[in-house]
Amino acid sequence: MSPKQIVMDSDLCLYLEAVSLRERPLQKALREETLKLPEAIMQITPVQGQFMGLLVKLMGAKKILEIGVFTGYSALAMLLAMPEDGTLMACDINESYTDIAMRYFESLGVLHQVDLRLGPALGTLDALILEGLNDHFDLCFIDADKTHYPDYYERALSLVRPGGVILIDNLLWSGKVIDPSAVDHETEVLREMNRRLLKDDRIDYSLLPIADGLGIARKRPC
Ligand code: SAM
Ligand code: CA
Repeated sequence: MSPKQIVMDSDLCLYLEAVSLRERPLQKALREETLKLPEAIMQITPVQGQFMGLLVKLMGAKKILEIGVFTGYSALAMLLAMPEDGTLMACDINESYTDIAMRYFESLGVLHQVDLRLGPALGTLDALILEGLNDHFDLCFIDADKTHYPDYYERALSLVRPGGVILIDNLLWSGKVIDPSAVDHETEVLREMNRRLLKDDRIDYSLLPIADGLGIARKRPC
């Protein structure tokens, strides 16, 4: 291993939040409401959300595609970083989650920027490709069911413009990717995804050890 990756224990994570996190009260409220759900663990961390918002600003991203909305924390972080004329196409299959998201988008005055597509994301993405939206999006965040990650990634590569970015979440999968006893389908798919991303010469790539591992792929111009 190359030097030096520090191990983030919970005290250091708290310190990192204390010295860097800038979260609006309504974002915090969304986090707290989500924490009451049994599936709360699915939400990205606020530190990751802030990083994604910064990336949106650095890129000047105005057209974002999100695959896996849940209660909207990651979408909100990106929406708040976009200009007024920016749009976010939000794909999810579960309306009871997205109802919560939409309520917060409304409270924060960004609802008009959201195009919610309810249904299996693969069908939504194929429809977007048929509509001719290839090379359309500046940024795509992949964070839905892990077993479809390779399919989402291939579609995202078509839908994102050259120079655009695909973010792929949970690539370290709580460390299960290096646990030989973890042979479940999701873990195998994520391992295969990591192998593919490393070799894919259509992208510039980095895997950040933020939260549960966030891949950043920039689509190379042809
Ligand atoms: N990005 C979200 C956040 O920061 O709060 C978390 C997303 S959560 C990990 C995964 C989401 O993917 C869930 O809301 C789930 O309903 C959705 N999902 C699962 N399977 C899906 C599918 N086949 N098509 C679309 N969405 C799906
Ligand atoms: Ca995630």
